[in-house]
Amino acid sequence: MTASSLRLVWVYPDLLSTYGDQGNVLVVERRARQRGLAVERVDVRSDQPVPTTGDIYLIGGGEDRPQRLAAERLRRDGGLTKAAESGAIIFSVCAGYQILGREFVNDLGEREAGLGLLDVISVRGTGARCVGDVLGDVDERLGLPQLTGFENHQGVTQLGPGVRPFAKVHFGNGNGTGDGTEGAWRDTIFGTYMHGPVMARNPQIADLLLRLHLDVPALPPVDDRWYDALRTERVAAATQTV
Ligand code: GLN
Repeated sequence: MTASSLRLVWVYPDLLSTYGDQGNVLVVERRARQRGLAVERVDVRSDQPVPTTGDIYLIGGGEDRPQRLAAERLRRDGGLTKAAESGAIIFSVCAGYQILGREFVNDLGEREAGLGLLDVISVRGTGARCVGDVLGDVDERLGLPQLTGFENHQGVTQLGPGVRPFAKVHFGNGNGTGDGTEGAWRDTIFGTYMHGPVMARNPQIADLLLRLHLDVPALPPVDDRWYDALRTERVAAATQTV
């Protein structure tokens, strides 16, 4: 594909897309088209092979059992791993984030291998489930404004030396480790606990993925009024509950 086009792959919408994570695909697709890119969107159901030639892959959150099924199928399929090895951009949320890691604890209480694309390990937290709005500062290397999102997970994710935290929270839990970290990333692979959908609340993340795809430092601005209104409203709602 040339840089004036985008092959956008949405992985397993039938298993992984809780809390409106489908919105992430819509936002990336729309913002790409607004920049004149010809978008080919590929929704890959869990009984289909994951294409290895996508540019941007999105994978969402899910409940514990669909998460195990998705992990089994992704391991067997191998397409997402191949795509990662070829430098694809991957953005994952919650269950998808845990699957991208080295290992997670599944719905049977067993340790299960992830894809090993992010140096993280997830276990089931013993404390209260992490639920609610989150605010955080994104890793300054990524040049993004304040992160706003919604979390709902029992999993607690420990970061290894091969990744950096995606953000540091100042409200909410994020990785649930108590150290304030939220999500993880390396190179062009990202994981976060943020729903929202996170791209609707933080369209600059969608733009980051597009900038990585196009290999450009900036994109032409688009009308962000509706996104800004949503951000303002959610940031106010989070801080009001303090
Ligand atoms: N089942 C996982 C957990 O509770 C992921 C939940 C989710 O994707 N919302 O940690």
